[in-house]
Amino acid sequence: MSTSGRGLSPEKYEWLQRKLKEFALSPEAWISTLMSYGISGDCLTGRASACPVCGGDDRFTYDNKSGRGDWICRKCNDGYPMAGDGLQLIARANRMGLYRLMCQLDGGSPPPSRARVSTPAPAPKRKADPAFVARRLDGMWSDARPQAVGDLSMRYLQERVPGLTAGSSPSLRLGMLEYRHEKKVLGEWPGIVARFELPEGRLGTLHRTFLDPVKPAKATIVSPDGELLDAKLNDMTLNPLAGGAVRLMSPVDGEIGVGEGLETVYGAFMETGVPAWYCLNRVLLSRFVVPDGLGIKVVHIFMDFDHVDLKTRQSPGVSAGMVLAKRLREQGYTVVLHRPRQRGTDFADQWRSRWIAAHESAPLGRRPAYASRVALAI
Ligand SMILES: [Zn+2]
Repeated sequence: MSTSGRGLSPEKYEWLQRKLKEFALSPEAWISTLMSYGISGDCLTGRASACPVCGGDDRFTYDNKSGRGDWICRKCNDGYPMAGDGLQLIARANRMGLYRLMCQLDGGSPPPSRARVSTPAPAPKRKADPAFVARRLDGMWSDARPQAVGDLSMRYLQERVPGLTAGSSPSLRLGMLEYRHEKKVLGEWPGIVARFELPEGRLGTLHRTFLDPVKPAKATIVSPDGELLDAKLNDMTLNPLAGGAVRLMSPVDGEIGVGEGLETVYGAFMETGVPAWYCLNRVLLSRFVVPDGLGIKVVHIFMDFDHVDLKTRQSPGVSAGMVLAKRLREQGYTVVLHRPRQRGTDFADQWRSRWIAAHESAPLGRRPAYASRVALAI
């Protein structure tokens, strides 16, 4: 997350610093601004509450002690305390950079840019109105096509997870998507639209993976300033995301697997045969809630085996998995933890390297079958 302004041009960095210094709101306006960005009013009472970023029961306190929307959380820094202001809270809860946030809040002229784009800027939006967000997300979902065998989304996934046998998913679609950056449309790309659902079935957001129009790879999208942009983005957030997942497949025999990313959990599915969902990132993985009504009794957690974080001396992906495992076990679920063998890899990496090794040595036409069980993606 680029809250520090890394990757910005010097002009934008200077603009951001000036705007951050000038930004001021009354206590009431802080509350309404935070709520308009999806922070629950329950967290803004001044009493201990769950954290809008990392969950828990009573670890978070909004005190506005310096009049800048100030807060403190005992766990927000990978399990360690963190404090910040209201803008940082919005940026963290919505996984957006401070620069983009300040552009939205400023609502006025965007900062100077060395290059020009021909597309006119859309009208400035001061805040995300839930009805607007719902219409936007519904429109994006209904304009996209269900996944079909051989389409670009399936070819991309086959490239990332070779030999993938999962079939199409009801939670993934292929659409033509506008890429917006700093209020400007940079162009349209084909992309995978993933439906992120909350435990009770409401839509949380649509997660988008922009694809190259020709080859099965992520799109290369460059800003007018020459910054290489992220090809994976959440769209606007309709409801706070904690607890939810993209439900790629149906549970089988009361079992489901969860992990961080799309490709990762498809790799884990190929390694284990367990049907899989994904939560977008490790914070949301650690906060995953098992939905009622699907008969789920066993949860497999597919952890990313990240390198050790020097501050916490832990692998962030493994820590997130352990946090989830502890909570789910307390709730009575059977939990099976899975970790890739090699540090610095996830299950997509592990599956891919094993598949390539096997296919370089095995004679043509004799493919080893890895998946011990088959789950249908219906
Ligand atoms: Zn927190």
